[in-house]
Amino acid sequence: MTAYFDGLVLHSSGTRPAVAELHRPEVGPGQVRVKVRAAGVCHSDLSMVNGTIRPSFPLVLGHEAAGEVVEVGEHVTRAAVGDHVVLNWQPACRNCWFCANDQPWLCSTSSGVASLENGVTLDGVPVHVALGLGAFADQVVAPENAVIPVPSALDFEVAALLSCGVLTGAGAVRNTAQVQPGQSVVVIGLGGVGLSVVAAARAAGASDVIAVDVSEAKKGLAEAAGATDFVVSSDALSKEIRGRTSGRGADHAFECVGRAATIRAAWRATRRGGQVTVVGMGSNDDQVSLSALDIFSSARILRSSVYGSADFDIEIPRLADDVLSGRLSLDHLITDRITLADIPEAFDLMSRGEGARSLVIL
Ligand SMILES: [Zn+2]
Ligand SMILES: [Zn+2]
Repeated sequence: MTAYFDGLVLHSSGTRPAVAELHRPEVGPGQVRVKVRAAGVCHSDLSMVNGTIRPSFPLVLGHEAAGEVVEVGEHVTRAAVGDHVVLNWQPACRNCWFCANDQPWLCSTSSGVASLENGVTLDGVPVHVALGLGAFADQVVAPENAVIPVPSALDFEVAALLSCGVLTGAGAVRNTAQVQPGQSVVVIGLGGVGLSVVAAARAAGASDVIAVDVSEAKKGLAEAAGATDFVVSSDALSKEIRGRTSGRGADHAFECVGRAATIRAAWRATRRGGQVTVVGMGSNDDQVSLSALDIFSSARILRSSVYGSADFDIEIPRLADDVLSGRLSLDHLITDRITLADIPEAFDLMSRGEGARSLVIL
């Protein structure tokens, strides 16, 4: 193996990332080296480029990925060389209060870590990796609890999607909102996560899955994911939704944008006693305003879904099984297959709200 590897490096927010050669970090005790085979371009990566999330620099971007274990350190028991694995950017420590109380997705050891130092540039400058991974690279060195072995029959491309967007979207439907057969669902924002919500809601037996986006161009993707209705977002959205839900509003609304305006739209699209699940990650200075009377009299539930409220170690094998058995179809999510060098253009596409997932094939 060579002493170098390629990664997509960002030097500061607001600049354009570029592919650079980096020194290969050693694999320490309890760590594994994964040859990345596919990595999805996720909105959180864009948030690091545009400054919404503030990691340390220089930074290897990327966190939604799957690959093959090529080296294991001492004491590693979870994975062996040759295993196909999905990467987890928020591995549960299994020791903190949240892990001990069955909420590993809120693990206080790994939550809120935007980047970790791991490796050096060819000039000897310490390098940081996004969300502990830095998966826009041909390899990643990570702790063993950040990899979950999956069947080798599962395509690397689909496996990569499970790692962030699909787990987030499907988990919001299954674990957080617990959508029941026959219920009506509105999904606002049809990126990779929103389309995963659509697919999972349909798989859960929702009778109506009303997909909403600002772009008419998302209609075909929404229908391929299983939407029964498609609506272009407008000021008349709640009226439109009521018209399609016997005048009541939907049982569930999923907000997959992360903006106050769309959280309010999701709130108004939901029936009395319905549930609004916020899946999109917004900014700290975007305030949501609801009247005290409305909160009381609407009897709605407003909650967020962090990383699909999922125990990654249980949910990833389950999702892999759902895909392999045909219960969950994800092929329509991949709208572009690209190289590391193409990622900046994929960010441009994402900024304009076009496509679903751009997937980097390594
Ligand atoms: Zn992500
Ligand atoms: Zn923990």
